[in-house]
Formats: sequence, C-alpha cells, structure tokens
Amino acid sequence: MVTIADRKDDSMTRLHCYVHIPFCRERCNYCDFFLVTRQELQKGFFAALARETSQKLAAFDGSTIHSIHFGGGTPSLVPVSCLEEWLETLSRHVSLSGDAEITIEANPEDLAAEKIRDLTALGVNRLSIGVQSFLPEKLRALGRLHTAEEALRVADAAMEAFGNVSVDLICGVEGETFEAWERDVHTVLSTGVPHVSVYMLALEKNTRLENLVRRGIVALPDENEQAAMYVRACEMLESEGFEHYEVSNFSKPGFFSRYNMGCWCRESYLGFGPSAHSFLVSGGRETRSANVNSLIRYIASPDEAQNCNEVLSRAEQISEKIFLSLRLSSGLNLADLLQYHEGNSRVRGILDRLEKQGLIERKGDVIKVSRRGFLFADKVAEELIPVRKKCASEEAFPLRVPTTNSEK
Ligand code: SF4
Repeated sequence: MVTIADRKDDSMTRLHCYVHIPFCRERCNYCDFFLVTRQELQKGFFAALARETSQKLAAFDGSTIHSIHFGGGTPSLVPVSCLEEWLETLSRHVSLSGDAEITIEANPEDLAAEKIRDLTALGVNRLSIGVQSFLPEKLRALGRLHTAEEALRVADAAMEAFGNVSVDLICGVEGETFEAWERDVHTVLSTGVPHVSVYMLALEKNTRLENLVRRGIVALPDENEQAAMYVRACEMLESEGFEHYEVSNFSKPGFFSRYNMGCWCRESYLGFGPSAHSFLVSGGRETRSANVNSLIRYIASPDEAQNCNEVLSRAEQISEKIFLSLRLSSGLNLADLLQYHEGNSRVRGILDRLEKQGLIERKGDVIKVSRRGFLFADKVAEELIPVRKKCASEEAFPLRVPTTNSEK
C-alpha cells in the first residue's frame, strides 16, 4: 500500500500517473500483456478504479501531476465518458500542471472521427497509436485488427486533431524483407508524426506466435536481419530530424514522451488498475509497489489492489539508475558507476573494452551507449553492474522496458 510515509514532501520528484485499462477486443499473436477480452467486466473495473484512485490519492491531496498515461490493453476501446469520470475523481485530490501531458494509447480501429473529437474535448493532448505496420501482410501476421488504409487515415486524422502523436512500428515479422521494413519507415515519415517507437518483435512465452514458431509453422527473420532493420530505422529517422532519445524511441525536438521519460529518469509515478506499478521517491527513500494482476480480484477488493511493496536499498537504487540511464541518449554519469563499484578501478577496464567493441562512447564523465550498443543495452548494463542484486520482489517489479509493444 502506498502510505503516508511515502507521500509527497518537499524533496519528492515530479509526480506522474499511469492507468492500466486492461481490455482488448482480441489478443494479438505476439502479446503477453496483462489484459482481458471480456468487455462485460468494464463496469466493475471502472467502479474499482474510482475506489482505488480515491483511496490512493488521499495521501497526495494538493499535489501536482505532470503527466497522465492511459495504457493497456486498449484504452481507446472504452467509452470516453469513463475516462472523464476517472479524471473527475483525480481532480478531487490533485491538480494538473499547466503543461501536463495526457496520453492515451489507441488502436486505429477505435479512432473514428467522433472518438478523436471526444478525446480532444476531454483534454487528451497526446495520442500513441499502435499501428505496428502499414503493410497488410505484416498486420495479418501480427494478428492486428486494423487495415493498412485505416492506419494511414488515422495517423493523418490524429495529426490534424492532436499534432502530438506517436506511432509504434514493429520489425522482424514473419516474411518481412528489409525493403518492406524500409517502406514502413518511409510511410511513417510521410505522416509527419513527431514521435515514433520502433520495436523488434520478441517471442514472449505462451503467446500464439511463440507456439507457432516452436512448432516450426512460422519462421521469423534471424537476429542479424532484425538488427539490420533496427539500425536502418535509426538512420532513416535521424536523417529526418528525429532524436533517438531512448533505445526504442525517437522524437522531433520537444515531442518526447514526458510520462515515459519520467519513469526512465526515475521520477515518481502512481499506477492505477490491475498489474499497474507505482514508484515513489521521497528524500532518500525509494519505494516500488505493484497491484494484483487479476481483474477479478481487483474488482472484488480494490482497497487491497496493491499486493507488493518494497523499499529499495541504496545499492538497488544506484544499479537501477545505471540500468535505466544506459537506455537513454543522455547517458550515464561515471560518478554513479564508480559509486556503485565503490571506487573499484576494474570498472574502468570494462569501459575501455566496451568502447573498443563500439558499444559505448565516452565524452568527459558521461558514458553513452552507441547506436550499435543500443541493440545490446541490457547486456552492456549487465557488464557494468554484474552483481546487480535482484530486489526481493524484482520479479514483481521487473525493470523491463517494452520491446514488442508500445508505451505500455
Ligand atoms: S498488442 Fe496491444 S492491442 Fe494487441 S493484445 Fe496486446 S495490448 Fe491488446
């Protein structure tokens, strides 16, 4: 339970909110996210969400929220009036900063003109669209429900209504050629969206796709082909003025995701809904907590939504900071690394080796992962923090950055 002990004080970092809307029409072939397809549970979910929100925010009365991210699942699937009611509950406790970013993840098939109009009227000012591809054969292979034409139409309409739009693309799909991938990247560039997320398809356990690959029915491009596609996307996006600011994320100046940057920079965030995580920094104390990943249990006992809570040790704080900083173009401070290694000079030898391998670059005291190194960011982190002790509940709070899906 997020407690009064964790609540805002003068030293608390900026505060963000995440809402997990766990509903999808169908599960895509590759997806292992926490979600349900039983739409009849929506009513009970929103009642429980209101209850959890009031209870959790009571400890934060008067605070200011800097971003709200509706993720899922498919938040664009639920009625806008439900999101509106949740925002009203929120506003009884906290206020939004003047420039607060309010993002909703959306699927193209949900974004009829009326929905776009209602979302803008609600105050949503950033749309993250799960396009994944503009090519019919790729969409079929991924099990997506929208058509290529729909994806293009929606990207254009969203740009007109919001301006601040992100599109997700996935590479490494069955039968995908390098040229087909280049066409996808060309198409996203032609839409003019200022933010693109590029993911390499990963085989998650117990997904339909994993089953098909295991049985030899589907073959995916190999790792080298996938890596070449990723590097090509980096080149194409950067040459059009996008900054590669995180392993999977590219933005035009000023259009990075504030919510995600907040998480990667380890600012405080409160998560609502089943499977949502919270992270609070207050003074030197850092707390992680997680909600139950069962919608039935969440609806039955929203007061007990949080089932895991942990205060991070100093070593855990530093190793987490190193791990996340290495995924960002802003890089990592040598001082943090030395602090983790308690001045042990062995780490300088590791840095020399990683630099020679072309995986990192050093400028003064800042260490950055190179473009090639971005492909191996987790491995670079493992080299630099080899004895990173897993938090007791790290299984519950995996420091996992999305690799196959959007900002979820
Ligand atoms: S990829 Fe997105 S739309 Fe598809 S099942 Fe997963 S959460 Fe739902």
